[in-house]
Order: sequence, then structure tokens, then C-alpha cells
Amino acid sequence: MTVVGLPWERLEGKVQPWHRDRLAAVYVRQSTAGQVRDHQESTRLQYALVERAVALGWAPSRVLVIDEDLGHSASGIDARPGFQRLVSEVGLDHVGIVLGIEMSRLARSGREWHQLLELCALAGALLADPDGVYDPSDHNDRMLLGLKGTISEAELHLIKQRMWSGRLAKARRGELVVPLPIGFVRRPSGEAVLGPDEQVRSVVRLVFELFERFGTVNAVLCYLADNHIQIGVRMREGPERGELAWRRPNRVALQNMLRHPAYAGIYVYGRSRLDPRRRQSGRPCTGRVRTGCEDWFVYLPGLLPAYISVEQHERNLQRMDANRARSQSIGVVRDGPALLAGLVVCGRCDTRMTVRYQRGAGGKLHPAYVCARAKSDYGQGQCQQLAGGCIDEHVAARLLQAMAPAAVEVSLAAAEQVETQRAQVDRIWRQRLERADYAVDRARRQYQLAEPENRLVVRQLERDWETVMTERQTLGEEYDRFRAARAGTTGRRSGRRR
Ligand SMILES: [Zn+2]
Repeated sequence: MTVVGLPWERLEGKVQPWHRDRLAAVYVRQSTAGQVRDHQESTRLQYALVERAVALGWAPSRVLVIDEDLGHSASGIDARPGFQRLVSEVGLDHVGIVLGIEMSRLARSGREWHQLLELCALAGALLADPDGVYDPSDHNDRMLLGLKGTISEAELHLIKQRMWSGRLAKARRGELVVPLPIGFVRRPSGEAVLGPDEQVRSVVRLVFELFERFGTVNAVLCYLADNHIQIGVRMREGPERGELAWRRPNRVALQNMLRHPAYAGIYVYGRSRLDPRRRQSGRPCTGRVRTGCEDWFVYLPGLLPAYISVEQHERNLQRMDANRARSQSIGVVRDGPALLAGLVVCGRCDTRMTVRYQRGAGGKLHPAYVCARAKSDYGQGQCQQLAGGCIDEHVAARLLQAMAPAAVEVSLAAAEQVETQRAQVDRIWRQRLERADYAVDRARRQYQLAEPENRLVVRQLERDWETVMTERQTLGEEYDRFRAARAGTTGRRSGRRR
């Protein structure tokens, strides 16, 4: 057994003059921006390593601080330029000693850590933390360093595991705070409630009713766009966090809304998983992928206030899936004069036939049902084509025959539905106008309250007042135009009905 000397004796033995000829690299790291903010003490300790390098005999000008990785949270090596720089400096034999707050925390994974150890051993560089100085080419030190790496990896794993099981247990009780979709807000107490803004709520309701009526996301989107209806979003971050902003609707947002279980009052957790392969591909994405509902961790119906019933939610999901899997589903009612667009199936190929329109004499459109699969997919000849007129007539006659008794009721119900939706759109318009009126009123009051002597402020307030007044006027004109256009369609429709 060898006698262990005093720490300083050992240090003196390890740090050789030729080490001091090279640089001392201080690697400063803190994984997330939050940690950088909250753990100032730790960051300060890391910078104190510079003093330690000086104490070990390095000139202050020969100490290289690598702190590019402050606030980098990604766990792959690609996202940490500082660590890469450290590795390359060591590999170029520029470094005599590497200092870190906790040696094993230099690296994020065991693989990185052992790579660094190997490199330091080859280049003859030392490693140091507040506990001591290690020589990776020395057998005992190497073992100690390896052990430190293993322990810290195990520690990290345990912390993650503990945090995760805590989160899951909280989620199982429905108490974990999950992000809420449009139309919900969270009270300071943590309770989820329907949004306080009436207009936001009516737009959400309208989206679900429109989907119930049209059956496709695209149709809902077009309807909203045609009627200039915007969706009220709560800002998630930034200086205006929690404020309401109006955004024009888009397909993805609508799809997410229609798929989100929260609208049916269901609390869910674990709808997406992290896929590390996606992260590493370097694409700008969150690396999260949606999972099927059978893989969700938590599914608690009735925990949130609901906009729709669970049955309607499930119906919507089925409908959206059916829209996607077009070739196997019954398809959606399409626009255009052809009666059976998207509904006729070719008897030979068992695939859906497309509609092609030909402009005949007098500009009239003549539909034709075409089986184009063989041609478009396999480059073969066209399978078959049928003039639309005769099939449409035949099917329409059969349909009317079957529907005759129920026809009146159906058309009455349809008319009623159209009326309700009109009323809803009208209400949203009036809410928008009300909001604009309020803005004008507030600007006027602010202008009147300002001290006339304070010219700069008064001028700004006057400009603000004018701006909101112009906005209010434009909105009013838009509403008039909208009403005029709608009155036109109503006239035409009722005319046709007569
Ligand atoms: Zn065919």
C-alpha cells in the first residue's frame, strides 16, 4: 500500500511545467436559460474556476473560458458548440488542463464523457474540478473519473425518473397544468374555465357547428374566411402573455381544435411523445409526434367545462379520419353541378371516379365521370368514362322517389340550420362592432382626461382616437357590405325555392 501524500504535494506532482505552457480551458455550462437565471451562484462558481487555474500556476492571459453553451438545453452534441470547441482544442494539443465545476458534468452523456477522457489522456491534458486535479493517463485517476461519470449519469437518470413519476401522478389526478386550447383560460387558482370573452366562445361554438354541418375542415375554413371571422387566441409567451389576440383561421389550427379532447370536457395527458430521431435530423421542429389515443397516459372525461358532448367529439374524429382515408370512405359532398362528385365507383377497378367538366354550347357545364386511376397511376389507357347527365337524372329520380314524404321536413330543417348559422355570424359581427365602439369610447375618454398643457401626450391621444375611429368606420362599412351581399344571396335562394 502506498502512502498518500498531502493534496498539494499530489497537485504539484501532476501539474508539470509543460502543462503550464499550454492553455487552461475553463468550460462553463448551464443547461437551460432558466437555470442560468435561477442559479446565479453556480454560474459564479464556474467563473471562479479561472482563479483556480491562476492559483495552479497559469497566467491569467493563458486561461481560455469556453461559455458558448450557457443556456443550451439540447442533449445532443450537435447543439453544444462550446463542448465541440473544447474537444477540438484538446485534440490540437493546445490545452494543458480542463477545469469544470463538476468534472462529470462537462459532458451530457457517458459517450461524450469517455470520448473527452480518452482525448485528454492522449493529449496529456489534465482535468480539474474544485475537489482536485486528475491525470486521465494515470490508472487510479482514470478509474475515479470513470466512476464520477457513471454516478452523475445515474443521478441524472434518477432525477428525471423522479420528476417524471411526479408529473404523471399529478396528471392522473387531473391536477397537472397542461396547456389549454383556444376558448379556455386558467384561473390563478389553476382551475380551467371557459374563456371570459363572449366573442371567443361564440367563434369556438361556430367552428364545431360548421363542422357538424359541412363535414370537412376545408369547408369550415372557407366559411370563416368568407365571413371574415377571426379566432381569438391567448398569447402564450412574450410581453403580452395572457392577452387576447385575433388571428385569421388556418387549417392546422382548425384541425387541432376539432381533434382536441378538451372541448368535450376531457382532460388528457401524453398526446405526443418525444422522438429523438426527429430532433437530430436538424429540422426546425419540436421533435414531438402525436400518438394514438390508446397510448395516452391520462384520459379523464368530465374534468373540464365542455363545448361539445363526448359523442360529438368522437363523431368529429371519425369524420376527419374518414375524410382522410378517401378511397375507403363514403366521401364528402362536393361543389359543382355534378350530383355524384366523389361518390361514383368504377365497377372494373373498384376505385372512385373523378369528375371532368366540359363546356358545351351556351357555356353550360356538362359533367362526365371518369375512371382515371389506371392512366394517372400506371400510365395505362383510360378505363372508362360516362356522361354525367344520364346517371344524375337516374339517381335524382330514384332519390326523389324514396325521399318524397320526408322531403319537406328535410328542407325545413336545412333552412332552419342555415338561419341559426346566419344569426351566429351576425352576432359575431355585432360583437366585433361592440369591441370597436368600446375602443373608440376609451380613446375619446383618454383624450378628454389628458391635461391640455401636456401637448405631446394630447397629440398622441388624438391620433390614437382618430385611428380607432377610422377602424370602427371601416368595420361598419365591411358589415354593411357583408349584409348587402347576404341579402342578395337570400333573395336568390328564396326566388329559386318559389
Ligand atoms: Zn376503372
